[in-house]
Amino acid sequence: MSFKESFLKRSNSYNFYKQQYETLSAENHELKALLKKYEEVYPPKECPICGYKGIDFKPYVNIIHREVECPQCRSHERHRALWLYFHEKKELLKKGNTFLHFAPEIQFDELFRNSGMEYHPVDINPENSLINEIVDIQDIKYPDNYFDLIYCSNVLEHVPDDKKAMDELYRVLKPNGTALILVPINGISYERPYDKQKTFESDEINTPELREKYYGQNDHLRLYGEDFKDKLKEAGFTILHDDYIKNLGHELIDKYALIKDENIFECTKLKS
Ligand SMILES: [Zn+2]
Repeated sequence: MSFKESFLKRSNSYNFYKQQYETLSAENHELKALLKKYEEVYPPKECPICGYKGIDFKPYVNIIHREVECPQCRSHERHRALWLYFHEKKELLKKGNTFLHFAPEIQFDELFRNSGMEYHPVDINPENSLINEIVDIQDIKYPDNYFDLIYCSNVLEHVPDDKKAMDELYRVLKPNGTALILVPINGISYERPYDKQKTFESDEINTPELREKYYGQNDHLRLYGEDFKDKLKEAGFTILHDDYIKNLGHELIDKYALIKDENIFECTKLKS
């Protein structure tokens, strides 16, 4: 029997041993050795947002093949990646700058509200308690060239006219401003059985059940392919980077349970 099997037989929970170790005694050599060995086989995962440390993250709804959700702050892979990103690129959260945030997430609320920026958390869904106002991304009620920073993560796949939405994001971004745009692409959310290049969207996929089956979630309206970046370019954006997560390296990707192939599209609007 391998060490892994024998350990799992003795305990289903690294956290149990960890807790025992901390509450019993640092002199408990057997426990200490066991924990150390276990950590070598399974390096503990960490959440950079809330500091959770444990053997793994939780699966999420139908995504059972992957660790997704932090059991403590409920962050998903993209939140943890963006958290690292915003802490590395602090200049983006510049005091006094204008910031449009679509579909705000609780994990970022304190960080963004305390940034000293002119912060606009918005959503079309009035049930999102973090918003200041209701805004339709297909018709953004702000003037041209208004925002220094736009952050729009996992929104466009819910929007009927995503082309209009991208045009609107481009319109309200200041020249040389930054728009961070994320969508689920290809098999990131689930296994995709067909062409990964092209975005898949069909009028016939019109029920929650069919959307779940073909797009991976019952309220998604399409499944983006690798041509998503072409759509951003068509709207006028220049993509500066899309490989932040990949460049973190496999150790950090494993530690924080990120998705190596997930893209943070860092876009700008060049002065014409
Ligand atoms: Zn967390």
